[in-house]
Amino acid sequence: MDICKERAFEILRRLSFTRIAGTAEELAAAELIRAECEKAGVEAVIESFEIDTPEIFQASLTAAGPEGGPIHCIGIGKSGNTPDEGISGPLLYIEDGLEANLLDAEGKILLLSGTAKPEVLERMHKSGALGYIACYGSIYDPPEMVRELRTRNERRKSGDETNFPGVLIHMSEAQKLLRLAPERVSIVLKQDGGKKGTSHNVVASIPGTDKPEEIVVFSAHYDSVIYSTGAWDNGTGSLTIMEIMQHFAKNPPRRSVKFLWCGSEEIGLRGSKAYCEAHKEELAKTLFNINVDMTGTLLGYEKAVCSCDDMVAKHIDFLGRMEGFPITTSVDMYSSDSSSFAAPGVPAMTFARLAPKGGAEIHSRKDVFEVLDPTAFIRTVEFMLKFAEPVINAKLFPVPRQLPQQIQERVNQMAEQSKEQSKEQSKEQSKEQSEKPSEAQPKEQK
Ligand SMILES: [Zn+2]
Repeated sequence: MDICKERAFEILRRLSFTRIAGTAEELAAAELIRAECEKAGVEAVIESFEIDTPEIFQASLTAAGPEGGPIHCIGIGKSGNTPDEGISGPLLYIEDGLEANLLDAEGKILLLSGTAKPEVLERMHKSGALGYIACYGSIYDPPEMVRELRTRNERRKSGDETNFPGVLIHMSEAQKLLRLAPERVSIVLKQDGGKKGTSHNVVASIPGTDKPEEIVVFSAHYDSVIYSTGAWDNGTGSLTIMEIMQHFAKNPPRRSVKFLWCGSEEIGLRGSKAYCEAHKEELAKTLFNINVDMTGTLLGYEKAVCSCDDMVAKHIDFLGRMEGFPITTSVDMYSSDSSSFAAPGVPAMTFARLAPKGGAEIHSRKDVFEVLDPTAFIRTVEFMLKFAEPVINAKLFPVPRQLPQQIQERVNQMAEQSKEQSKEQSKEQSKEQSEKPSEAQPKEQK
């Protein structure tokens, strides 16, 4: 196999910087990946697409009373705006937002455990409350992380255009706020929720020697979230598929192989969705998507989640036993870019090396290069190649096109949701355009 852990980790070290969807840093990471493809002698292009980048102008939360004062918060994108003077009301802790939690919510500002699922948001809107406070993180986080809140956009049910301003605070601030039990809290939130930005995919191609029209796509997202270097999530996946590309550059495959580094996965799989949209006519000949989201932790265990016929999961089980490579398989959808391929009917799967609780963490400053291990990393690459190369070079392509019923049902649900979302988006867009002229360039956002 033409793979090399030292080469991969040297590039991974250089890629381990914060690369938030739609920012100049994300684009710099795309350029780095493209340059590495070209170094390997593989042609690669950068493809751009539009994303939501709501801009928060002002967000504050204040507790009333002698022991009160300002609490560090950030605005939740697309939640709404307050009047200039803000909103003010009694605080009500609504735990996880069940109906019984919301009986007395009218005129109040709600504090939720965690962040709002669409159905909880809808219940909060109907309750007559003025606005809400969501929280995340851990009360055990070190103090500096209290100010490092991951930016977040609201996910609403279709057609829900309620103006319901929300802010996000750290879990330890939520605990403090509840202990303080202030009589009133107030929120000021000003934002442009309709603002758009640009993100990028990198696509490298190695044409097949025998059946160039048939394609297998390897994918991995390369964006990260705010405050995270994204070394593990998903610098490792990005380098996993790059090593696989290095191998195929030297060992030409019978079918065409594409390598897709997705931008904006962290804000709702935007890059892979954009790829599938832009390459629509190619999808009929796209036989399989092998996605990688996080590999290479020293403390960890291997998983393969197959959004395709269970023949693939069983084959990986079998191969794992043959190779002495411990891996757990399942047939399911996975919250990563493989879902964007399964949605239009392309058999897809994700490989991941996950970590035990406390063994490595993502989505904060804790996601660092130091928890990774080149030997663990390269073992996964090797196993993936042992699986993928015979599949790509098979006489008869072995992965059935038909998705199993359980996957098809999930896909249909997702399709329904995204149809509603895009309807909503285009509605919002035309509304925004008619209301005001487009403004300055997008700036840094999650
Ligand atoms: Zn990820």
